[in-house]
Amino acid sequence: MVPVHNRYTGPLMSETFDYVVIGAGSAGCPVANRLSERPSNRVLLLEAGPEDRNIWIHIPIGYYRTMMSPLSWGYQTEPDEGIAGRSIVWPRGKVLGGTSAINGLVYIRGQHEDYNYWRQLGNEGWGFDDVLPFFKKAQDQQRGGSEFHGSGGPLKVSDIRDKREICDAFINAAVEAGIPRNDDFNGATQEGVGNFQTTSGHGRRCSSAVGYLRPARGRTNLRIETDALVQKVLFDGKRANRIRYRKNGAEHTVQATREIILCGGAINSPQLLQLSGIGPVDHLRALGIDVVHDSPGVGQDLQDHYQARIIAELNRPLSVNDDVKTLFRKAWTGLQYVLFRSGPMTFSAGHVGVFTKVLPESATPDVQVHFIPFSADKPGGDLHPFSGVTISVCQLRPESRGEVMITSADPRQYPKITPNYLSTDYDCRLMTEGLKMLRTVMKQPAFARYLKTEREPGDGAVSDDDLLAYAREKGNTIFHPTSTCRMGSDPTAVVDSRLRVRGIDGLRIADCSIMPAVVSGNTNAPAIMIGEKCAHMILEDAAAGYPPHSDNRLN
Ligand SMILES: Cc1cc2nc3c(=O)[nH]c(=O)nc-3n(C[C@H](O)[C@H](O)[C@H](O)COP(=O)(O)OP(=O)(O)OC[C@H]3O[C@@H](n4cnc5c(N)ncnc54)[C@H](O)[C@@H]3O)c2cc1C
Repeated sequence: MVPVHNRYTGPLMSETFDYVVIGAGSAGCPVANRLSERPSNRVLLLEAGPEDRNIWIHIPIGYYRTMMSPLSWGYQTEPDEGIAGRSIVWPRGKVLGGTSAINGLVYIRGQHEDYNYWRQLGNEGWGFDDVLPFFKKAQDQQRGGSEFHGSGGPLKVSDIRDKREICDAFINAAVEAGIPRNDDFNGATQEGVGNFQTTSGHGRRCSSAVGYLRPARGRTNLRIETDALVQKVLFDGKRANRIRYRKNGAEHTVQATREIILCGGAINSPQLLQLSGIGPVDHLRALGIDVVHDSPGVGQDLQDHYQARIIAELNRPLSVNDDVKTLFRKAWTGLQYVLFRSGPMTFSAGHVGVFTKVLPESATPDVQVHFIPFSADKPGGDLHPFSGVTISVCQLRPESRGEVMITSADPRQYPKITPNYLSTDYDCRLMTEGLKMLRTVMKQPAFARYLKTEREPGDGAVSDDDLLAYAREKGNTIFHPTSTCRMGSDPTAVVDSRLRVRGIDGLRIADCSIMPAVVSGNTNAPAIMIGEKCAHMILEDAAAGYPPHSDNRLN
């Protein structure tokens, strides 16, 4: 559990590296690993959070604790009209491994069509056939390598270790409702119902720090600094070549002779760009920030998956709520994990998944279901005293767009996050149709025989308006913010298809913020793929002898 000691410990003040990577999250760890595979590259990786020593990071169910702990940035959204004026918590990992260290472990890549759409938008090299090799390169698939899967890569991907009667009942009910069985959501097609795979190996989480940094920590050309908050990227003219960060109360400046790669995630990357003078010019000036480049898209186009949950009470004790009711049973779940690496402690944020179409006009699945064999009032909350399961539905490609904007030039001040959930008719329609689809599945004989009652939204919610009101009042994020530094070639796109910040030399971004549109599914595996692909492009450009970015100026 204790990481291998960092061997490269030379002085840092005013030191020079070839590459400086900001943020050791899902995407940042692969970038740092692949760049430092070349012994001649001197790489610095800076992470605002601590080492990943907390034991709950490595036990899968630990996400239920860590997501609301100091290992998360604990962002809070602005009060949002679309969700009944509520402000909700947005956990984001602040630790080695970033959000991959506190997430729900579900391994999903999205649909082939997502990436082909990115390509159609003008992003050369981002079609499904282009990105598949990077998903495979990253992966160590428990089932072995195949046309769609890689083996021997850093990221362990495993089948769930704990079969449950109630989970099988839900799968069978979905099949009864006409949804095809699918044992591989990341294979030829995503559509169907089946068990998720998880980013874990032998019952332990495989964060990107575990997968990518542990094997690299002995390298003398890779330096990893934790508890280091990057405050600003610094420029000579339009060339990014230094960064300033704060650690233990002292400020440091380091130089990057080749490139700086920003991997801060969908909230922090636009924040850091804006703090550094890249963003909407009027907004920056109003905060007294010197403008380096007017980029009106920085912080815009925020997308997220919003979920509404049905809480169902079972007529027999088949849920995890029952497993942890007494001290004796709690102890047994602990023992199960210690002895066999099985049982509730290996659970991810979804046992069973469904990808299906609820609108007739949709060409591919438009909603995703997460079925979890336990229930609580909110994610991370105390489990209910009754035998409960949670069945959530989220729309895969929301139209609603929000923004992330700084309100101060102080890097420690959190930016303002405005999601604008459920702000289009299409999104509202999908939400209500999604909830109705869940009810249809629950009514099938295979599940109905276990169902005592629907606790939430309950019998009182009948009409579409009732269901929408319920979604607005009780729904929550499923933690997938993206697209705030969107890749593209239009005037408001922030990075180009080689992930270079447009209008700037020496600066790339690799994380969920660059997605031209959110993928149809969970976002950790795509972020890791983006990190792998970014590192590949950097090495490719360096090998071709391109000076860092001088061909990238748009102005
Ligand atoms: C509770 C929860 C459950 C989730 N469940 C799943 C799931 O089951 N499956 C799935 O696929 N996805 C899941 N996700 C989403 C997924 O994990 C994230 O989308 C993904 O990890 C984001 O990767 P990233 O590289 O964009 O950013 P991150 O992984 O967030 O990395 C950003 C890193 O940069 C660091 N950083 C930021 N600013 C600075 C700075 N100024 N200086 C230094 N360091 C900085 C951060 O501390 C962090 O370590 C979940 C997310 C959450 C919060």
